Amino acid sequence: MTEFEGGNSRPRLLESVDDQTEESIRHSLRADEDVLIRVFADLDLAGQYTTRWVVVTDQRILVVDQADGVVDVPVADVTAVRAEPMVGGGRLEVDRREAPTLLVPYTSSMAVKFSEVARGLEQLRKKETFLINPKLDRLRCEKCHRLLPEKNGICPACVRRWHTLGRIVSYMLPHKSRMMVLAVASVATTLAELAPPLVMMRLADDVLLPPPDSTA
Ligand SMILES: [Zn+2]
Repeated sequence: MTEFEGGNSRPRLLESVDDQTEESIRHSLRADEDVLIRVFADLDLAGQYTTRWVVVTDQRILVVDQADGVVDVPVADVTAVRAEPMVGGGRLEVDRREAPTLLVPYTSSMAVKFSEVARGLEQLRKKETFLINPKLDRLRCEKCHRLLPEKNGICPACVRRWHTLGRIVSYMLPHKSRMMVLAVASVATTLAELAPPLVMMRLADDVLLPPPDSTA
């Protein structure tokens, strides 16, 4: 989903976008503008699920909303950018010189991404070297979008079980003879564990109980 696009030395954080959105982004940009960040947020200002795109070029920040259109903020008008944590998520806050703070809310699964976006925007605003990390930690499975048990880890729902088993078997193949010994030994151990009850039976029936014909 996130890709690193080289070409020149600047890192880019570009998420794949549908054609319609790409069209409206392209429409809002000048031909010479260099897109550095293109990421989506999943909440609208009322806290309802939606898809809004945040596009950052070397000159502007665009917030593209299919319902509300495009908000265009020149980087020169920005006075501060923060990724503000909130309950269940957070929001990107872009303070502007002449206008109210621009807010882009998102759920917690996007917190890592937007803290990178805020960092990148601060670098642009202060005219520092633009250095964001284009490789984000994966919190969700790319296939089924479930939360991963650990970040960048394996999705338990999508792991190919037979493939994994096959790999384990391939590790064991060089030790075939030892595996056989282990298998035989474990069967023998199990059989040996069955013996004590038989001994107890003999003890109880023949030694501890008096014989049935005894009169004592
Ligand atoms: Zn999965």
